[in-house]
Amino acid sequence: MRKIQMVDLKGQYQGIKDQVNASFQDVLENTSFINGPEVHNFQAELEHYLGAKHVIPCANGTDALQIAMMGLGLKPGDEVITADFTFAATVEVIALLGLTPVLVDVDKESFNIDPAAVKKAITPKTKAIVPVHLFGQSANMDEILAIAEAHKLFVIEDNAQAIGSNYHFKDGSIKKAGVIGDIGTTSFFPSKNLGCYGDGGALFTNDEKLAHTLRGIVNHGMYERYHHDVVGVNSRLDSLQAAVLRAKLPKLDDYNNARRTAAKKYSAALEKNENLQVPQILNGDDTHVFHQYSLRVLNGKRDDLLKHLQSKDIPCGIYYPIPLHSQKAYKDSRYNEADFKNTNELVKEVIALPMHTELDDEQISFITQTINDFI
Ligand SMILES: *Cc1c(COP(=O)(O)O)cnc(C)c1O
Repeated sequence: MRKIQMVDLKGQYQGIKDQVNASFQDVLENTSFINGPEVHNFQAELEHYLGAKHVIPCANGTDALQIAMMGLGLKPGDEVITADFTFAATVEVIALLGLTPVLVDVDKESFNIDPAAVKKAITPKTKAIVPVHLFGQSANMDEILAIAEAHKLFVIEDNAQAIGSNYHFKDGSIKKAGVIGDIGTTSFFPSKNLGCYGDGGALFTNDEKLAHTLRGIVNHGMYERYHHDVVGVNSRLDSLQAAVLRAKLPKLDDYNNARRTAAKKYSAALEKNENLQVPQILNGDDTHVFHQYSLRVLNGKRDDLLKHLQSKDIPCGIYYPIPLHSQKAYKDSRYNEADFKNTNELVKEVIALPMHTELDDEQISFITQTINDFI
């Protein structure tokens, strides 16, 4: 059996090697490292893929979130509601900009922000909601949009983990995750579903005026060369990264299908185990792109299973081990532990199994067998 890896970027590279190497060579020959044609072409191709009117590339997914909040004109003191159970980047930029993060609980089945908790957290100072489409599946956007509309709030989708997934609205219409709210953001960190070979990120919006604002902010607040109309940042996707992304974008649906197929095999082998709760695909196969295959280990057996898998050389991860509201940097005396019941339980239950595009049946059988034999 091939060695099992949490993420297998080398195996994936073999499939696009000739194309990536050739386009790297082109960029090197042209020395168009910044804002070269690769960046513009990738931008247009991603707009087409997502059905987004505007894609604004930037340096990473954290910057994308920060730039989104700057672009919407959020000001110190404004409250921004986001999920307690996510990667810290989301809450980090809220705090960094002097905005007030308001963390709320998530739903235990989907791992995503709980609309009822969002509603409860709204105050006259609330300006935006940031749903995170965790592990590859959209938050409940029907309800988030309804709440946002009723309270005149902006919606920024943190789509770092769900690029390529579809969201099915209650009325039957379908949109790509990330192009539902006012702005969507993503990360091209190497291990993400669409990853480059360094750092990269992007913002998506269908709003022409907002897109213009964002394009200036990523470029030092310049709308005309050497005229700085607003305070901006320097956040660019470079041409080498764009070249990798152009090679991978046409394969994104296949990559996501490979993840989904692996996830289904995991679930088929594990769903009868009474100590496990496998991840739920909530509304049609295309709604989940399995950035992570995170399952819940019940009855207090998570940490023992983790140790056992490690002893068998099966890599696994805990996303995330500590709720954000309990992190030193993000503690707030206004929080009440009783409001974080689900996150507090999930951090003790979740375990993520190896998930990437190169998993084979032998590896999946070995992993599931090892788990079922142990618990
Ligand atoms: C990866 C990730 C980010 C940050 O992306 P970077 O490119 O690493 O800055 C933000 N939010 C979520 C949910 C992520 O998974």
